[in-house]
Amino acid sequence: MLTQAQIEDRYFQIEHRIQTAAQQAGRSSGEITLIGASKKQTAALLGQFLALGLHDLGENYLQEAIEKQDTLNASDVCWHFIGGIQSRKSKQIAEHFEWVHGIDRNTVAEKLSRHRLESIQDKPINGLIQINVDAQESKSGVSLSEISLLVEKILSLPGIHLRGLMLLPAPRDTVEEQRQVFARARNLLDQLNSEFDLVLDTLSMGMSGDLEAAILEGSTMVRIGTDLFGPRPV
Ligand SMILES: *Cc1c(COP(=O)(O)O)cnc(C)c1O
Repeated sequence: MLTQAQIEDRYFQIEHRIQTAAQQAGRSSGEITLIGASKKQTAALLGQFLALGLHDLGENYLQEAIEKQDTLNASDVCWHFIGGIQSRKSKQIAEHFEWVHGIDRNTVAEKLSRHRLESIQDKPINGLIQINVDAQESKSGVSLSEISLLVEKILSLPGIHLRGLMLLPAPRDTVEEQRQVFARARNLLDQLNSEFDLVLDTLSMGMSGDLEAAILEGSTMVRIGTDLFGPRPV
């Protein structure tokens, strides 16, 4: 178990890394939201981080997330669903989260929108399209050739407010290689904004091992698990 001093140390170290990278990029750290990627971590531990000022939590597993939401004071937290979306869980995801990061196909988008409208009528869920930047290695995320069709689809759905892109690249060996992938996402966002005349403002990219590279390339949301909360309990 982490002591209070260790918790403070971890939280302020991550804040410091974000500030340093933002400064290096000539950006304001206020443009970057820290999301605690909190899968497998206990509600009690998360509560201690919330007390220090952490405000956003990203969960991968629906049941685990709902249990934590019941325990923690809802008004303290902005909840993000950052895991893969199973179609049959889209109803509860639409009801329990403010942001959903992994939209990657039409059927899921349609269901999220419909269920959101049924439950929370006046507040569309913030949606990000997960893009597949490692076509050989991973099956999740939409391929770059299909993204325009998915954007068009989501724009037609009143229950989702499309905000930008999310990516989960395979680990790279060097910062230079990390930056190349993140730069591709940034260019794609610019391209979509001009193609569809949009103001998409969100890039969810960067984790413990590559948050600096992501911020240098324009990330607005970093999802940090291990380096914030410590190793995940097994
Ligand atoms: C677990 C997870 C993270 C955080 O990963 P760390 O390497 O522990 O920082 C970020 N994004 C997603 C989608 C995750 O599942």
